[in-house]
Amino acid sequence: MRMKTYQRMLLGCLPVCMLLIGSIAVPAQERRWFKGNTHTHTLNSDGDSTPDDVVKWYRQNGYNFLFITDHEYVTNVAPLNDLFGQSGRFLVISGQEVTDSFDRKPYHINALGIDRVVMPNKLPGAVETLQKNIDDVNKAGGVTQVNHPNFGWALTADHLIKLQNYSLMEIYNGHPLVNNLGGGGQPSAEALWDAVLTSGKLVFGIADDDSHYLKRIGDPTAPTPGKGWIYVRASSLTVPAILASLRTGDFYASTGVELADYKTDSRSVSITIKEERASKYTVRFIGSGGRLLAESHSNPAVYPIKGDEGYVRAKIVESNGKMAWTQPVMFAGRR
Ligand SMILES: [Zn+2]
Ligand SMILES: [Zn+2]
Repeated sequence: MRMKTYQRMLLGCLPVCMLLIGSIAVPAQERRWFKGNTHTHTLNSDGDSTPDDVVKWYRQNGYNFLFITDHEYVTNVAPLNDLFGQSGRFLVISGQEVTDSFDRKPYHINALGIDRVVMPNKLPGAVETLQKNIDDVNKAGGVTQVNHPNFGWALTADHLIKLQNYSLMEIYNGHPLVNNLGGGGQPSAEALWDAVLTSGKLVFGIADDDSHYLKRIGDPTAPTPGKGWIYVRASSLTVPAILASLRTGDFYASTGVELADYKTDSRSVSITIKEERASKYTVRFIGSGGRLLAESHSNPAVYPIKGDEGYVRAKIVESNGKMAWTQPVMFAGRR
C-alpha cells in the first residue's frame, strides 16, 4: 500500500505534526476551515448583479471567500477586497470561466486565481479543446476546475480520464440545468468522478453554485447562490493559502453538511459530523469502481483502510438530503 506522495505529505500526519505548505511549516492545529464558492457570475458576464452586490451576498451569508468566475472576464478584485475584506474575514479571489464548445456541446473550465483572461481555443474535439484550455490556465498560474460534466451531456468518463493536469472537477453544481444526477443511462457527475479516480487519476471533487442571479432568489428554476460550497482547511485566509489547499485537496465539498473534523492517515479515514439536532446521518465509504466499502451510522464514522481499495473517499448524507463529500485518499498499489 503506497499513498501518492503529496496526499501522504498532506494527510498522512494530520492533525498532530507539522504540515509543509511550500517552504513554510505550519502547525496543523493552526489551520482553520474557510467556507467558499468557486463558481460565481456577475454583471461582468451573464449574471444579474454587480460584483459588489454578489460579494456582499456571500459575505452576509456566512462565507469566507469567493472566486468571481465570469465568462472571458477577469474582475479586478482589489477594490472589492478594499471594500469588503478589511476585517480579514472575507477574501475575494479573481478567476474566469473559460467557455468553450465543440459540436454544439459546452466545454467549460474555471481558472481559479488567474489575473488575466485565458481565451478559449475552439479546437476540433472535446478533449483537444479542453486540454489546450487546461494547459493555458496552468500556464497562467490558475487552479483548473472542470465544470458541470453533464451540462449538455458534454463530457464522458472517457474524456475525463484522457484529460491531463487538471486539479478539480464539479461533482455538484447548483445550476438547475446541469444534470448532476445523470439519468437515462448516463452516469451522475459523482459517478464520473469515481471513473476518473478508478483510472488512477487524482482529481478533487467540488460543490459550488454557478450562481448568476441574486434578483431571482427563491426561484427554483434560476441559478441562485447558496446551494453548494467547499470548506477549505488553510493556514490563513489568503490567496496563496486557499489555492495551495485546493491544489492538494485539503477541503471537502458540501450542500449543507458540516464536519467538525476530518482526518486521514495510512490506517483510517475518520469523519466527525457537526450534527443538526433533528437530523440523522449516513456515512458511506466508497472505493475503486464507486463500490460501497462500508456504511456507518456512528459519529465519528471511522473506516479502517485495508489497502486494496484503490482509493477511499466518504460521502455523508443527511436525512433531509444535505450532503458532503470528502476527498479521496489514493493508493498506488493494489487495486
Ligand atoms: Zn459553465
Ligand atoms: Zn458558470
